[in-house]
Amino acid sequence: RGTASDTALTGYHDDSMTSGSGSGLPLLIQRTLAKQISLAECIGKGRYGEVWRGIWHGENVAVKIFFSREEASWTRETEIYSTVLLRHENILGYIGSDMTSHNSCTQLWLVTHYHAHGSLYDYLNLVTLSHAAMLTLAISAMNGIVHLHTEIFGTQGKPAIAHRDIKSKNILVKSNGTCAIADFGLAVTHTQSTGLTQIAPNTRVGTKRYMSPELLDETLDTKCFEALRRVDMYAVGLVLWELGRRVISNGIVEEYQPPFYDRVGSDPSFEEMRKIVCIDQQRPVLPNRWASDPILNGMGKVMRECWHQNANARLPALRVKKTLIKLATSSNMENIIY
Ligand code: ADP
Ligand code: MG
Ligand code: MG
Repeated sequence: RGTASDTALTGYHDDSMTSGSGSGLPLLIQRTLAKQISLAECIGKGRYGEVWRGIWHGENVAVKIFFSREEASWTRETEIYSTVLLRHENILGYIGSDMTSHNSCTQLWLVTHYHAHGSLYDYLNLVTLSHAAMLTLAISAMNGIVHLHTEIFGTQGKPAIAHRDIKSKNILVKSNGTCAIADFGLAVTHTQSTGLTQIAPNTRVGTKRYMSPELLDETLDTKCFEALRRVDMYAVGLVLWELGRRVISNGIVEEYQPPFYDRVGSDPSFEEMRKIVCIDQQRPVLPNRWASDPILNGMGKVMRECWHQNANARLPALRVKKTLIKLATSSNMENIIY
């Protein structure tokens, strides 16, 4: 279908060039990337824009096309993917960004590796899981989050990064059954030496269903980067719950449901979420059958320690990852991949 070959491309070598639409971002981006890609099929649509499967040098790639009003999100995501040392098996692989003009309309492209299974949300709707498959997904996702959250020191170091929109739709499933964290449009970085948190973290961002109590009651200390990691860990707890439900044990499995499916409708308001999460302090129910399954029982304990009302009591990502690895090894699954 559509190709980008008819698009005018903005300058790569001209340092004075900016996007022209307000960001002031120097275009240190590959000027020919979009030209080389032909779009094959639309695989996602939203308020932000669209995601397409495209072909680049004979290989599948994913092309996220942002509406021009979403330029800030494109800029942010491009910046985050350009962070030194971000490359990791469990972080969506970045190919490049491009800004092109199509019939005098700005098009913002972000090109990444393509994963045919789509998001964890799509995947869990389709399949049920063995214990090993679930732990592979969970441990690999935690691997990605640990890498994000951890600052690496040194001249070629990596800042700590808080994702701020962790949910099953923002985690992709790779063909080997492991996860890659995606969608960095809201991410913020932090460097300890400068104490600097890049981008003033406006509080009311993210997906309402996955918002932590401190976001919902607006008590989050936005100056504290650690607080943002804890917001991510709350959402991690909910994603682990989505995973646990799809594990078959003794022939039983729960259908896929998003967190709080039994308390709110499909598009809950901030107020609705605040009522159930902060005031009533409700959390997803752990199905009875989990208690008699050592792995699901252990997972349930981890979830509770992730979605704790008190953010300071939540487990850090590395602790969750280690606990899940322990669950795997204690059930003789030490050779699962993640
Ligand atoms: P948004 O910021 O609009 O939420 P995402 O980056 O989360 O955009 O992408 C939206 C959806 O598109 C994802 O939930 C997933 O279903 C699909 N998608 C995104 N990137 C890829 C990819 N690299 N491979 C396969 N599917 C993808
Ligand atoms: Mg998303
Ligand atoms: Mg997004």
